[in-house]
Amino acid sequence: DPMRADTTTTAVCGYCSTGCGLRLHLRDDEAIGLTPETGYPVNLGMACPKGWEALRVLDSDDRATSPMVRDADGKFNKVSWDAALTSFCDRFKEIQSTYGPDSVAFLSTGQIASEEMAFLGALAKFGMGFRHGDGNTRQCMATAVTAYKESFGYDAPPYTYDDFEQSDVLVFVGSNPCIAHPIMWERVLRNPNDPAIIVVDPRRTETAMAAKEHLQLSPKSDLALLYAITHEVIQRGYVDHGFVDAHTNGFEQLAQHVQAFAPDVVSSIAGVSVDQIHSVVDLIGQGKAVSFWWTMGVNQSYEGTRVAQAIINLSLITGNIGRPGTGANSITGQCNAMGSRLWSNTTNLIGHHDFGSADDRAKVAAELDIPVENIPTDTGWSYDRIMEGVRSGKIKGLWVIATNPAHSWIHQDDARALLDQLDFLVVQDMYDSTDTARHADMILPAAGWGEKDGTFINSERRYGLLKKVRKAPGEALADFRIFQAIAHYWGVGDQFRDWTDPEAVFRIMQRLNRGKWSDISGIDGYAQLDRCGGIQWPWSQASAQASHGEGSSGDPAPQRRLFEDGNFAHPDGRARLIVDDVTPPPEPPCADYPTWLLTGRGTVSQWHTQTRTSKSPVLRKLYPNQPYVELHPEDAARIGVSNGERVTVQSRRGEATAAAMVVPTVRPGQAFMPMHYESTNRLTLAHFDPHSRQPSYKDCAVKILKA
Ligand code: SF4
Repeated sequence: DPMRADTTTTAVCGYCSTGCGLRLHLRDDEAIGLTPETGYPVNLGMACPKGWEALRVLDSDDRATSPMVRDADGKFNKVSWDAALTSFCDRFKEIQSTYGPDSVAFLSTGQIASEEMAFLGALAKFGMGFRHGDGNTRQCMATAVTAYKESFGYDAPPYTYDDFEQSDVLVFVGSNPCIAHPIMWERVLRNPNDPAIIVVDPRRTETAMAAKEHLQLSPKSDLALLYAITHEVIQRGYVDHGFVDAHTNGFEQLAQHVQAFAPDVVSSIAGVSVDQIHSVVDLIGQGKAVSFWWTMGVNQSYEGTRVAQAIINLSLITGNIGRPGTGANSITGQCNAMGSRLWSNTTNLIGHHDFGSADDRAKVAAELDIPVENIPTDTGWSYDRIMEGVRSGKIKGLWVIATNPAHSWIHQDDARALLDQLDFLVVQDMYDSTDTARHADMILPAAGWGEKDGTFINSERRYGLLKKVRKAPGEALADFRIFQAIAHYWGVGDQFRDWTDPEAVFRIMQRLNRGKWSDISGIDGYAQLDRCGGIQWPWSQASAQASHGEGSSGDPAPQRRLFEDGNFAHPDGRARLIVDDVTPPPEPPCADYPTWLLTGRGTVSQWHTQTRTSKSPVLRKLYPNQPYVELHPEDAARIGVSNGERVTVQSRRGEATAAAMVVPTVRPGQAFMPMHYESTNRLTLAHFDPHSRQPSYKDCAVKILKA
C-alpha cells in the first residue's frame, strides 16, 4: 500500500505562534500525512485546519524551484546557483562601494528557524557590513517587546499555556483567539473553573460572542478605557498593596494619572456604559487568578506600547502575575516571532544583547570569535525607516526573506512604488508568485517548513523542533544553506566555519545566551527537545543540574512561568508602572470619510497574505476567495446595498472593491476588512507607535459606496 507509513516523527507547526506539535507519517523518509500530536504539551492532540493542511501547500506548482534573474526586458530567466550568488554578491558590493556600506538592508521574518535567523543576522551585520535590517515582526510584536522591556526590564512574556486552563477570569484585549489562535482558545474551553471571559474589542468577534462581558469600545479609546478600569480598581480597593509595595515602582504616579479617567468621563469617549465598566472591575478585582491577554488590536496601534503597559499595570497592581492562571500576556503572531526577537540581530543584538553596549558587543565578538569592530554600535533602522530610506535614496539594495511587504506593508501602493525604486531587490521565498516577488530583480528559491531542520520558539517561550520530512522541490535550498553559500561567495566563509548545520548553530546560541533571562544552556541538544515536547526558556545549566540532583530524568517540567518570586529584570528587581497621555487618532472619520476601517484576521483557515494557505484546496473552500467588508445593517441600508452586493471602499490613499457582508459584528460607522486580501492595505494609513515603530493598521477613515 503506497499510502501506508513505515514510521512517524514529530515536529512543530509552521504557521502561528501556538506552536502545536504535529506527528508526521513517513514512508521512505518522506512525509505522506500528518495528525496532531497527542502527547505534545501545547496542543494535546488538537490542530487547526492550517496545521492539518501543512503538507499540502508544499506541493503547489508555483514553488520557486530555481534561482531566477530578471533580464533587461523585465523577464525572469532561470540561472544556476553559482551565477545567482555571484551576481547577488557583486550587485550588493557594488551598491555598497558606490553609495556607502549603509545603502543596503534586509527585511526578514518570523517564519524561518531560529538558527536561520541567527545566521542571517550575523552574516548580514557582522559579515557583509549591513547596518540596517529588520523583521516583519515589526508589524506584529515590536510593541509587546518595547512594553515588556520598559515594564519588566526584559522582553519576557511570563505565561505558560496551562494558564488558559487555570484562570477564573480571562481578559482579552484586542485579541480574537477563537480565530487567530484557535488551539489556545481550545485550551480556554478546557478550563474547568467556568471562567468569566471579558473581551475588549470594537468588533463583536467570535471570542466576544462567547464572553461574559464584551466591552465594545469605540476604536482607539482603549488607553482611556484601561485607565478608567485602573481608576476603579484603585477606588474599589482591589489593589494588592503588599505586591505593589514589594515588587513595583511608580504606583503613586499611576494613581495620580488615572484620576482624570473616572468611568463617567471615559464612558462617553469609549461608548461603554459606567455600569459595564463597574461590573468588569468587580470581576477583575474579585477574581482569584486573573489573566490578561493581548494581540494585534493592541500591538498594531499608534499608542500600542502604552496600551500594553496599561494592561501590564492592571496585572501588577492586582497581584495577578507569577501565579497559575495569571499574567500580562502578549500572544505572539508568527510561529517564530519569538525567535526573531531573540536571534535575528535586528531589534536586539543577537541573543537579547544591546548594540549600544560596549560590554555586550565585546561579549558577542568574543563568543563568535570575530573582531568587535564588525558589530554595529547601534540597532540600525526599523522597517518603516528602511522604507523611508528607499524613498530618500539612501537605501538602494534590499534583500527580502520570507515576507511579503508588497501585500502586508501599510499603505501598499506607496510600498510597491518604493520597491520599484530600488536598484536591486532580492526576494528569497518558497514561492515565486508572491506580490513582492513580482517586483524582484532576483528570486532565490527556498525550502519551506517540513523541508529543513531547526527550532521555532512559540508564544509561551517554548523551543520546539521543525524537521526535514520532505525534499525541497527542484533546486530550492533551506534558508540555512543559502546563508551558508552567501557567506562563502561573499568571502566570509571562514567567519562561519563553525556554523556547519542548524544544531551546531543552536549550540552557539546556547553559549551566547548563557546568564541571560532567556538562558537555554541547560538544553541537552535537539534530542532533549524532541523527547520533552519542546522546552520553555529559561532552562540554564544550573536548572538542569538541579533537576538531575532531584533524581529525575533531568527534563524540565512541561509548563513553567516567569516571575514566580516577584523578582523582575530591572536592576532593582522591581517592575515599572508606566503611564502616558492619551493621544488622538491621526485620521478620525470626517464628513468625507465617515467610516472607521478596522482590519484583522478573518478566519482560522488562511494565514497572513495567503502565500501558503491559498495553495490548499481545502483551506480555500473554508474561506471566500473574494474580498469582503463587514458592514452594519444600518450603514448597508444607508449605502443601499444588501448582503453580497459589491461596494467600493475608498480612503485618502486608494480604493478596494469588496462584497458587503451585512452583519452586526461592527457598530454603525465602522467596517471591518480581513488582512488576508491583497487590497486591504491599499487603504491603510502609514503611521506608527513612536516607541516601538509598529504600524497602526486598525484606524484609518474610509468611505463606502455602492459599486
Ligand atoms: Fe498550526 Fe497555529 Fe493551527 Fe496550531 S493553531 S495547528 S500552530 S496554525
